[in-house]
Amino acid sequence: MLFSDRENYRWPAFPPGLVWLIGAGPGDPGLFTLHGVNALRQADAIVYDALVNSRILDWGRCGAERIYSGKRGGRPSPKQKDISLKLIELSRSGKRVARLKGGDPFVFGRGGEEALALVHAGVQIRITPGITAGIGGLAYAGIPATHRDTNQSITFLTGHDKFGLAPTEVDWKAIAAGSDALVIYMAVKHLFKIVDCLMENGRSEHEPVAIISNATLPHQQTLVSTLGRVCEDMVRGEISAPAIVCIGENVLLRETLLWAERFWGENPGMYGADMEAVSRNW
Ligand code: SAH
Repeated sequence: MLFSDRENYRWPAFPPGLVWLIGAGPGDPGLFTLHGVNALRQADAIVYDALVNSRILDWGRCGAERIYSGKRGGRPSPKQKDISLKLIELSRSGKRVARLKGGDPFVFGRGGEEALALVHAGVQIRITPGITAGIGGLAYAGIPATHRDTNQSITFLTGHDKFGLAPTEVDWKAIAAGSDALVIYMAVKHLFKIVDCLMENGRSEHEPVAIISNATLPHQQTLVSTLGRVCEDMVRGEISAPAIVCIGENVLLRETLLWAERFWGENPGMYGADMEAVSRNW
């Protein structure tokens, strides 16, 4: 039993041969879903990516096989096919396979490709979303994703194309004009180019920007700047990946709403929740 069954809710069983794609969230294990925990408790094999917090892996069964499938960030990934094949092979050997991916599996995570490969191979799948870095990271930086006074719209985009280059197929004119706020994943490497494209297409150099690295983890760093200065500030601030970049007036709300860095400062060693106490009650 996962939590108390007082509500008479039956947690789904994990049949052998099923591959369960699960979003692991951006880092803080407290952001992992209960469906995810239920799946891990039953899984025979756990296939996980680089950005999955190891505390989450600890919630799997002792005897479960743990298989690392991390890729090097930003590079084209010749191994994606092998990962899908591995999942198919594990399923065919009758394992209950938990496929853990950072954030949400269907947000810039190639979860769609894996799911398609599995379905084409006749493998039964189940999908549990996770909190994506662009939502969770903003919340932990004290930046509302939307706010009526600053932005009624928000766009999520990637700073990398499938070749690891600055995205060329993006219609920068439409992106720059189309949304009040932008959240860019995998943006650190090509930030210079991205900022140029946005300013060339009409975004102001004075527009607020936040870069949030290692979001939702105690070593989270948030840099606030402007579009005109952000690249210089990023280099000076030694901001490292993984990081998301938020561009828009909503960034200014952080000045008032900042909370997580303060919380960790006052509660060293905490993950945003006392995970030992939470686990004891399971
Ligand atoms: N599926 C994931 C995204 C995978 S792409 C999701 O939904 O979040 C990897 C990119 O996600 C990183 O380059 C970075 O831009 C972002 N990212 C993932 N975890 C992050 C974290 N803890 N802090 C900041 N950015 C993160």
